[in-house]
Amino acid sequence: MQRAIVIGAGFGGIALAIRLQSAGIATTIVEGRDKPGGRAYVYEDDGFVFDAGPTVITDPTCLEELFTLAGRTLDDYVTLLPVSPFYQLRWDDGTVFDYVNDQAELDRQIDAINPRDVDGYARFLAYSKALLEEGYVKLGTAPFLSVGSMLRVAPQLVRLQSYRTLYAKVASFIEDEHLRQAFSFHTLLVGGNPFATSAIYGLIHALERRWGVWFAQGGTGALVAGMVRLFEELGGQVRLASPVAAIETDGDRATGVRLATGERLAADIVASNADVMHTYASLLGGTARGEAQARRLAKKRYSNSLFVVYFGLDRDVPGDLEHHTVLFGPRYRELIGEIFAGPELPEDFSLYLHAPSKTDPSMAPEGRSAYYVLAPVPHLGAASIDWDAAGPAYRDLILAELERRAIPRLRETLVTCRTFTPADFSRELNAHLGSAFSLEPILTQSAFFRCHNRDDTIANLYFVGAGTHPGAGVPGVVGSAKATAQLIVGERVAPSPTDR
Ligand SMILES: Cc1cc2nc3c(=O)[nH]c(=O)nc-3n(C[C@H](O)[C@H](O)[C@H](O)COP(=O)(O)OP(=O)(O)OC[C@H]3O[C@@H](n4cnc5c(N)ncnc54)[C@H](O)[C@@H]3O)c2cc1C
Repeated sequence: MQRAIVIGAGFGGIALAIRLQSAGIATTIVEGRDKPGGRAYVYEDDGFVFDAGPTVITDPTCLEELFTLAGRTLDDYVTLLPVSPFYQLRWDDGTVFDYVNDQAELDRQIDAINPRDVDGYARFLAYSKALLEEGYVKLGTAPFLSVGSMLRVAPQLVRLQSYRTLYAKVASFIEDEHLRQAFSFHTLLVGGNPFATSAIYGLIHALERRWGVWFAQGGTGALVAGMVRLFEELGGQVRLASPVAAIETDGDRATGVRLATGERLAADIVASNADVMHTYASLLGGTARGEAQARRLAKKRYSNSLFVVYFGLDRDVPGDLEHHTVLFGPRYRELIGEIFAGPELPEDFSLYLHAPSKTDPSMAPEGRSAYYVLAPVPHLGAASIDWDAAGPAYRDLILAELERRAIPRLRETLVTCRTFTPADFSRELNAHLGSAFSLEPILTQSAFFRCHNRDDTIANLYFVGAGTHPGAGVPGVVGSAKATAQLIVGERVAPSPTDR
């Protein structure tokens, strides 16, 4: 029986491990931290449950597929609850937009803001649906290993004007600035600057409209736990608190991994779900391949980082607060420019507020409520900030802003609070420059131009996760697992969503 090691228990790593184990490859996940999930780690503080990262679950079919290929049903492992509105968008001038999945209600709200944009939105939606078919359904799980594979899809990409930026494309359909922001901010959820990233990311809108927005009962951590349970039931092994120190090689083959403890684990196949720069620079450090790739990756652009505050209140969720709220600041284009390029921490911010207790009261003790708020911030290479020193004051600014705009009496009812900074992304997740989403999703760093799902030289070394094709976000990394599994087990993987 072939043996595989997957380094890292992020969504991508676990999804790949399930696929390999189901295909009869004896698979071990080796994770550095004490819990699985990666960016989807869970904190349990004073009876509150805080999902550290992903909260907006889209395209549940990509998750269901992992269970069906193993002859199981996702519903038997975790319950997904629909969330509506998908998001509430609030601007500083008092404009509010409930981003819902009901066409008549969307049209009514768009009409109230700018009647001419009702038609423009219809055209944007048709464009977004075409992007979804080409960019996600057809190409989202296809590995791009050769220039030829890229050339074959170039005509579709040109036809869909993927060379334009998302914001420019949205602006070609929609006049009102609030609505332009409402239909372009999504790339920020996967580390993309809407003013720089390819219009192809406009597919996220149609993806949400088609499959909805969901929340796992008990939190995203319950979804991770369900996937790990499935993997273990299939016979897979998970080793937690076991940081890998090196990928061992013999010529152009990976032979296994060496843990920080010195223990060696042999394997026929090694797949890294860890940060791509960390994998080449550290885990393959000292090898010609590792050093050459690390030099190449050092020249790439990385996504922004995030500053996240997890907090619990001794009160229920305010009646007018939705599960997902985006609080746009007074600036949009300029702020995003500073978040991606630095060189300072901007003084204003746009915030995403997560209030899971709104959907699932079990996330907090009775009568209390759990939240997190995140601010996109420059990564460690774009702005040199001592986050351990600057973090507390920044946290206080954010909580004061939330109190002003969304949660009255926040600070007097605060009972628990913790933060996660760009320095933590670097220290805890080995994220290059503390980036929250790995390589920036721009056209010149996508598909063939992203880190390949199989190394070009070390033939049995594979990659999965945000740094590979198609990129960050739960559907992205779960799709990358399918692309990588196809390379490893070929025909034995489940049919693609188009075949269902
Ligand atoms: C705050 C936040 C909110 C987000 N919200 C959403 C959302 O709502 N919806 C959405 O779809 N996406 C969201 N995302 C993006 C999404 O979470 C990520 O793109 C995705 O989870 C990354 O998965 P991954 O497979 O790349 O692995 P990661 O989650 O990056 O996991 C990699 C794992 O590798 C481990 N590792 C690293 N080095 C080693 C080593 N040397 N040895 C052993 N293990 C190692 C790490 O500890 C980690 O567990 C969010 C991200 C963040 C940070």
